[in-house]
Amino acid sequence: MYKKITQKIVEELEKIVGRENLTIDSEKMVDYSHDEFSLPDIARMPELVIKPKKTEEVAEIMRLANKEKIPVTPRGGATGLCGGCVPSCGGVVLSLEGMNRFIEVDRENQMAVVEAGVTLMDFYETVEEAGLFFPPHPGEESAMIGGVIATNAGGARAVKYGVIRNYVRGLEVVLPSGDIVQLGGKLMKSSTGYSLLNLIIGSEGTLGIITKATIQLMHSPQVTRSLIIPYENLENAIETVPFLIKQRILPLAVEFVPREVIQITEEFLKKKWPCSLGNTYLLIILDASNEEEMGRLSEAVAEVCMEKGALDVFVADSPKKQKQVLDIRSKIYEAIKANVLEVLDIVIPRAEIARHVKIVRDVSQKYGIWLPTYGHAADGNVHTHIMAARFEKGNIIPLSEDEWKSKFEKVREELYRDCKSRGGMISGEHGIGIVKKSYLPYVLDEEIIVLMKGIKNLFDPKNILNPGKIFD
Ligand SMILES: Cc1cc2nc3c(=O)[nH]c(=O)nc-3n(C[C@H](O)[C@H](O)[C@H](O)COP(=O)(O)OP(=O)(O)OC[C@H]3O[C@@H](n4cnc5c(N)ncnc54)[C@H](O)[C@@H]3O)c2cc1C
Repeated sequence: MYKKITQKIVEELEKIVGRENLTIDSEKMVDYSHDEFSLPDIARMPELVIKPKKTEEVAEIMRLANKEKIPVTPRGGATGLCGGCVPSCGGVVLSLEGMNRFIEVDRENQMAVVEAGVTLMDFYETVEEAGLFFPPHPGEESAMIGGVIATNAGGARAVKYGVIRNYVRGLEVVLPSGDIVQLGGKLMKSSTGYSLLNLIIGSEGTLGIITKATIQLMHSPQVTRSLIIPYENLENAIETVPFLIKQRILPLAVEFVPREVIQITEEFLKKKWPCSLGNTYLLIILDASNEEEMGRLSEAVAEVCMEKGALDVFVADSPKKQKQVLDIRSKIYEAIKANVLEVLDIVIPRAEIARHVKIVRDVSQKYGIWLPTYGHAADGNVHTHIMAARFEKGNIIPLSEDEWKSKFEKVREELYRDCKSRGGMISGEHGIGIVKKSYLPYVLDEEIIVLMKGIKNLFDPKNILNPGKIFD
């Protein structure tokens, strides 16, 4: 279907980006054959990795790829969890890492203009130095702006402030043809034709390559505080969340975390979680405009939680204590990663979480497989980790390859079936990539998939841009 990359094509690409920004050395390309999805079966070596430094270079690469019919896979920080940036048809991996300039912080409009290869870490730092605030907070800060827009990433703060889509005001995009288009701008609203801007957001690099973005910022919250609230059981913890919202309390973030993964992460990091009561925790982060308001808010949260069966309420109010808590929360994945097969990203209506988590527990018992589940309790996004292990009396017991292979698909199938029965979707924030595409027809009607394929065909009739992702 696709043309192989010849020496002549390598030379043409070298003319575009310079020899130092391109490699065909397989040792150097290994890192570009996978993302954070753990199973090696989806990895694939690219034929060439290219790192353009300017939009015009990206456009020239696409013109050549289009003419020669060579697949191109855009790649950001490769922190994706579903194989989105894996070059599944070979060809070129186009890494945005060299396009990492911060172009402007426009204080008057409260917007930042950046290249797609700026990492979240650098983005937060520069925005904070300017006294502003970027509310979405996807959990892995080595992700890049282009990648988080291409996946419409979410994160813990989505409950109060929404996902990446809510903050993208303008995009510069290189189309598969090599044309460069400007979508949106420093505008708060627009009803001018179809929103191609919103079509590109979440399109997982299949419709165009994002090279630049204009992003809405906000004033920083004056005061933040983290509450750690232990419960005897997960059901009570999760059931608290709709009650908080009914009381008109909207935290910055609400996460539920079982004690077992906290203990493993404490051990892994040699750090201490501030509370050892109970079997499960709610981690509630509050923001407020002054200390007085924060005091009232914290008291109201504590009251609702204690009414719903909380054992106590621990407060992390100093920046140091908050950092300790958030460090442990953000490193859970790292601590259990060695045995993770897949991180599911099911999203269901908020009120269904407790019932879904009960099913997760039943499936875990039925198959004898550890399914640690934690996530964004207030926005319905549940991350169940399918593990190649059992968990017994505080110990992780690895399963043999034959054993986990015989269980993996069945477990995933049962959990997706439950997700569907509750009106859910198979991805709340990570995207479909390669890993989830066989389940797309499970939750989307055929007419919808046909429309999506029609859109892909319109943008990319030769199917050269990130082929094999979302659907075949
Ligand atoms: C520990 C951990 C925690 C995480 N927490 C969260 C979380 O809280 N919320 C969340 O939403 N996700 C989370 N993720 C998943 C991941 O970080 C996000 O999906 C992130 O948005 C991916 O960005 P990236 O730059 O790494 O993209 P990649 O992994 O490089 O690519 C992802 C997709 O975007 C496309 N792409 C990348 N750059 C561009 C571009 N410039 N133009 C067009 N397409 C492009 C790729 O082709 C691919 O399809 C987490 C991952 C890990 C490992």
